Amino acid sequence: MTAAGVRDLQPYQPGKSVEELERELGLSSIIKMASNENPWGASPATAAAVVQVLNGLERYPDGSGHRLKNALSDHLGISCGKITLGNGSNDVLELLVRCFVEPGEGVVVSEHAFAVYTLASKSVNATISTVPACRYGHDLEAMLQAVDDNTKLIFIANPNNPTGTCVGYDELLGFLERLPENAITVLDEAYFEYVDSRDYPNGVELMERFPGLVVTRTFSKIYGLAGLRVGYAIASEAITETLNRIRQPFNVNSLALAAAEAALSDEQFVRVSREENLKGMGQLCRGFEALGLSWISSSGNFICVKVGSKANQIYTSMLSQGVIVRPVANYGLPEHLRATIGLPPENQRLLETLDLALRQVRV
Ligand SMILES: *Cc1c(COP(=O)(O)O)cnc(C)c1O
Repeated sequence: MTAAGVRDLQPYQPGKSVEELERELGLSSIIKMASNENPWGASPATAAAVVQVLNGLERYPDGSGHRLKNALSDHLGISCGKITLGNGSNDVLELLVRCFVEPGEGVVVSEHAFAVYTLASKSVNATISTVPACRYGHDLEAMLQAVDDNTKLIFIANPNNPTGTCVGYDELLGFLERLPENAITVLDEAYFEYVDSRDYPNGVELMERFPGLVVTRTFSKIYGLAGLRVGYAIASEAITETLNRIRQPFNVNSLALAAAEAALSDEQFVRVSREENLKGMGQLCRGFEALGLSWISSSGNFICVKVGSKANQIYTSMLSQGVIVRPVANYGLPEHLRATIGLPPENQRLLETLDLALRQVRV
């Protein structure tokens, strides 16, 4: 018999792939702006690092991730004993749930928040409390009210996917200061390197003060390594030690370890990616404005645009024109579509296909 938490679980819905759409429509020159990947690729240093490792594929990877952890330790100014590597940050999010939540125990998440938190929590049959969002973002005051003696984990995506909303420094600090000790806060900073705001709290800097704070980050987004799967958690030594008890011994493969280490050292690539993202964001917003559309202001490398009740038809029309975006009805946003910021010509094409799709549904 299937375990209770898994019985009615709906699998995570990834964005449609280019290959899939090519097969379905026989189209070429398809662009995917659906999974918040870096349209600029990855640092050239990563390919060189991967090629080196190709000579030793018969070997197991370094299960301790020693080199990458050392590089992260230097980069972040924290000790290696606070780092847990994962097969994507998804992996560490799941480890957190499995380590700290028993059936019936509480998990607090926000409405419109990243789907993996609920998915992982449901799978262990947790009691999930989904707190209504405030202007599409996490309402930390309301989330605090939802925390009780039974609560084990609280997930905060900062910025959140798919809305792109952020919680500010004072707001987060006020939340952490009043949080009871039985609860661990997971601050998911998958888009950390993209954020361009003075008010943005750096979770790693807050960890000294709040031992129950866990920060997760990834190489899948700005570093452009989504295909290799590598992310990490930063937490107290005690939490890290617990996570390592159930971590698969070789959860990060050798190519991913080498590529991530190389990616971390190419600061220029990260800076250029961030700058180009901001420009692309501006390009899309100006285009949405010209089309008479509103959007949710985003701190990430993606944006939710409000296209109205025919969002699904618009999505389908854009697909047929070879542009893949992401419907977000399953996130409680039935009138929005999420688009990843692309290269300038991709953004231009997205706007053109959106324009045509809007005309089609209006007639
Ligand atoms: C993309 C994403 C992740 C992690 O993805 P991985 O590829 O598993 O590292 C985590 N959280 C949010 C909010 C994301 O959007």
